[in-house]
Amino acid sequence: MRIEIITTLPDMVEAVASESILGRARKKGLVEVEAVNLRDFTEDKHRTTDDAPFGGGPGMVMKCEPVFMAVESLTGRGGPRPRVLLMTPQGRRFDQKMAEELSREHHIIMICGRYEGVDERIREHLVTDEVSIGDYVLTGGELAALVILDAVSRLVPGVLGDETSPLTDSFSSGLLEYPQYTRPAEFGEYRVPDVLLSGNHAEIEKWRHQQALKRTFERRPDLLETAPLDYKDKRFLKELETS
Ligand code: SAM
Repeated sequence: MRIEIITTLPDMVEAVASESILGRARKKGLVEVEAVNLRDFTEDKHRTTDDAPFGGGPGMVMKCEPVFMAVESLTGRGGPRPRVLLMTPQGRRFDQKMAEELSREHHIIMICGRYEGVDERIREHLVTDEVSIGDYVLTGGELAALVILDAVSRLVPGVLGDETSPLTDSFSSGLLEYPQYTRPAEFGEYRVPDVLLSGNHAEIEKWRHQQALKRTFERRPDLLETAPLDYKDKRFLKELETS
């Protein structure tokens, strides 16, 4: 998997992408990440990437030419066409489903806007997807691209290793994840639920699944509309409703 992030702030991207699990995944060659400096695709002395909006108004707009040239330089290397994602608060809302979908791609390019955003022709003629990380406005697309980079790359096989499984994570199973505990079993008067100390794996699995259902029912009942539920789950949820 190759992910390139086109940005005017490559150091900001590199600082996050070289840490922790993602940093190790890069070293192992599981995910190739490159922060592409948009200013390398400018031709003037000041390496300008933005200009005033036609028609007037506040702020600056990111220019077409450097962004088109940057994307072309990354797609001219052959292979299947990459997904070209524009970070924008106006895009499709990023979620775990989209992270899973993107983790199956071989090549992703993300474009980070700044200022008032990007020239509309980038949106119209260059990108394959417009993606938002939520209904709020950031100063730039870098944090959004890093959120997507993190969520997508942890799903690439081998990145998490054996110690963590994305399969039971919240949203992956359609439910929120069950509560987790670790040593000590007793912390003052706070005790870990007995079932987790019982050694009975079937009972532990049952408890975890019911806790996941309960959590989702209490916190995100909207997820239950699409979660895969069997008759036992439905019966358990009915009991919660009436209790
Ligand atoms: N004027 C734009 C608008 O109202 O839609 C907002 C521009 S914002 C200040 C600057 C850049 O930050 C955007 O071009 C985009 O790349 C990024 N950005 C801001 N909020 C975002 C969000 N929620 N999701 C993804 N990218 C975002």
